[in-house]
Parts: sequence; C-alpha cells; structure tokens
Amino acid sequence: MSEVIHDNGRKIHPIIVPTRSDLGSFNFYLVEEEGSVSLIDAGINSAKCWDFFTESLGCKGLSLKDLDRIIITHNHEDHVGLVDRIVSKHDIPVYVPENSIHRLKRDKDFFRMRTEFFSQLYREMGCGEAGEKQVEKLKEALEDHDKKKVQADLTQIESDPINGLKPIQTPGHSPDHLVFLDEKRGWLFSGDLLIRHMSSNALVEPDHEGNRLPTLLQQEQSLEKCSSFDIQIAFSGHGVTIENPQNLIEVRLSGIKKKAEKVLNYVNNGTDTASKLGKTMYKGKYESQFSLVMSEVIGHLDYLEIHKKVEKEMNNGVWHYKAL
Ligand SMILES: [Zn+2]
Repeated sequence: MSEVIHDNGRKIHPIIVPTRSDLGSFNFYLVEEEGSVSLIDAGINSAKCWDFFTESLGCKGLSLKDLDRIIITHNHEDHVGLVDRIVSKHDIPVYVPENSIHRLKRDKDFFRMRTEFFSQLYREMGCGEAGEKQVEKLKEALEDHDKKKVQADLTQIESDPINGLKPIQTPGHSPDHLVFLDEKRGWLFSGDLLIRHMSSNALVEPDHEGNRLPTLLQQEQSLEKCSSFDIQIAFSGHGVTIENPQNLIEVRLSGIKKKAEKVLNYVNNGTDTASKLGKTMYKGKYESQFSLVMSEVIGHLDYLEIHKKVEKEMNNGVWHYKAL
C-alpha cells in the first residue's frame, strides 16, 4: 500500500494493484477531504483488484458507504473495472469524460462503424491475414457488448468534478482522455498520459464519423499542454507516483520525435507499407501484439505525413509511403 499524500485538507490515498503485465500496476486514487471522498479511476474488473480496493478502504478507516463519487480519466477497461460493482452496492454518481459514454455503453452503431473502420484500415495498410484475424476478434467482441458495457448511470464531466480539480482534455492515448489538475497543490492525476516506466501508446481510433484521429500528434499536444503546468506530483494510472514530472514529459516529447525519425529512416530505405514497417520493426510482435504494433506504425506515419516528411499513394488498394 502506498503512502498517503496530504496538503491543505486534501488527502490522496493511492491504491496500487500490482500486475505481472508490462503495466506494472493498476492505480486508482481515493481523494479524501472534509465531508467528501472521491475515487479517481476504478481499476480492472478482477477479484484481486476488488479485494485490494476494499482492504485499502478498510485500512484507512473507510467503507464503501463513505464514497461520494467516482471520477474516470478515460474509457479503457483497466480504469473502469470496478465501477459497476461499487455502484451496485452503493449508488453514487459516476463522472466520465465527454466522448466516452458511447464507448462505455458499447453503443452498437458506433462499434459496428469502428469495426468497419479497422477492417478498411488494415486492408489499406496491407496487413492481409493478420488484419483479417484482428477484425474477426473485433466482430466476436461485438457479440459480448451487452455483457461488457458499464451498467451504471454515467454523468458527463462538464466542470471541476470536485472543488479545484480541473479536468483537462488530453487526447492521444484515447480520444476521451482527461487529466485532472489540482493547481493549488501542484498535483496532476495523469491517467495514462504519463507513466514513469513506459511511454503510453497513442492508440489509433476513429472519431464519431469514422475518420482516423491523428492520435500521436494529439498525444504530443497533450504532453506539451501539461509541460506548461506547475506540477509537483503526477498520480499515474500505472506504475509509480511521479515527482516533478517535467523531465519525464520532456523525455516523452523527445521520444516521439526520435521514434518518428526511426520510422522515417525505414521508409527512406524502402520499407514502404505500414504492414512491412510493423514486421520489420517489431518482428514477432507483429503477430502477437498486432493491434498495438499497427497503432504505433500508423500513428507515426500519420505524424510524419502531417509534418510533410512522407506522402502516400494508393497502389492496388494498399497505401505506399515514400519520404519527401
Ligand atoms: Zn488506457
């Protein structure tokens, strides 16, 4: 269990649930102040996570009944996992980012469109069988949507969900991503925008109309936005709490530029489709972590295209890239 951080009447109790995956841990945070207890993010839906959560509450002399609200940074399942379980036992408001409700509620039309989006994307990126396999998985997942959707009533975050905790739009990792800034104390609840031990993926996603979002560019802009804040501590969605995160933000920003250079070099040397880039750069991971690899590659190609470093041409239904 992590130590409590407190200042000026506001206490943060980090709940850090270890995992053997690369993420290191699933983190969520109790924010306690006079007369109110809020939960920022809600972990993953597992027995271990639930036990950790309820034991952590107990250690702090709190119970579920003391919770007043849940506040969510973004729609990914490892951030909303316990929402329904908590709300079914203790009915409290759940505040979520604008743009996440259709995802959390598994809106059928949206997800059908999203599946079609990836089907076309992987085809046009030359992914062949690996792409078709991934689309099959997405289609199968559509069947499970009623089971997987968040059942609780959701309220869109429109202003500070608690006093002096400002929501800031930071898309990139996900289109709906928010961080929450406590300006007075220099605290940032950074969700998955900023993780100490790994750079977070800017996952390729469509917007409402099915257009591909420039997710890596968005991620860069979101990091730049945060670099202008005076932050002493970033409470991250995974891994350790980050003190004085400015350096790390700079490292992540230069990391984006470096990786884009690397992709550009491959394109320069004639690796001219996204699928070839995925196979060449990521080897076995192209098959084992297909969607993440393609997100990385496509994100960087879009980024290079926006910066006029590459251009693409459709050839036999597949986009071919060349350096400019
Ligand atoms: Zn995430």
